[in-house]
Amino acid sequence: MESNPVTETLRALYSLHNRFNEIHHTLTKAPRILALHHQRVDAQQKTLDDATAQVQEQKVLAATKQGQLNDGESKIKKRESQLMECKSNDEYKALQQDIKASQMAMSVLSDEILEVLEKIEALEANAAKEKENLEKVKAEFEKFKADMEEKRPALEERRSEIIAKLKEEEKKLPAEFKDLYNRAAHNSFARDGQFDVLAPLNNGVCGQCNTAQVKNTISQVYVGEFCVCQSCGRILFAPEGRLE
Ligand SMILES: [Zn+2]
Repeated sequence: MESNPVTETLRALYSLHNRFNEIHHTLTKAPRILALHHQRVDAQQKTLDDATAQVQEQKVLAATKQGQLNDGESKIKKRESQLMECKSNDEYKALQQDIKASQMAMSVLSDEILEVLEKIEALEANAAKEKENLEKVKAEFEKFKADMEEKRPALEERRSEIIAKLKEEEKKLPAEFKDLYNRAAHNSFARDGQFDVLAPLNNGVCGQCNTAQVKNTISQVYVGEFCVCQSCGRILFAPEGRLE
């Protein structure tokens, strides 16, 4: 059976809709993707700032402890020099014990400083890794932006061409068909930002929602009458390569 003009038009519209949807989707989702990239950069910058602050915090701590160690050590030296000036044995012993206690404290402090220095090393490595991550997400952001800026004009042009072709095809629809189609197309675009109003009838089943259609509907579709899927309401058409 030769396909009728209405069927031909519906097939053409369906194909144009799919092409339009794809391009339009790419164009409209781009700002959202760009915003997500931006958020990732901001979040990674914050992670890096935190990592850098941790390094700084430990460096301050190390410097404070180092100051305490220097002070302590010079006090010990001072007391050691006072040993010779002790007037009594008791005084000498007391001072000696005092020096020993200070030396113990300084030894503990020394260990603590080493621990902090090790911690700084690990935190610096972490900060360096976060800096690399930041460069990476920044590069991804810039790449997406540049790609999109490069592609956008061609995509917009193709979208306009498709719209022009759609208008040409729509003119071919019979008058009684046209209003129903236009309303459905308008509603679909307003709702989802895409044209999703047509469905091929594949072996008696709606190609979009997979609902089997009644015999009467099937035969009407093949003669190019206006039929909608009883389940999803899409306009049905006979796809190419079917002889029924
Ligand atoms: Zn359906």
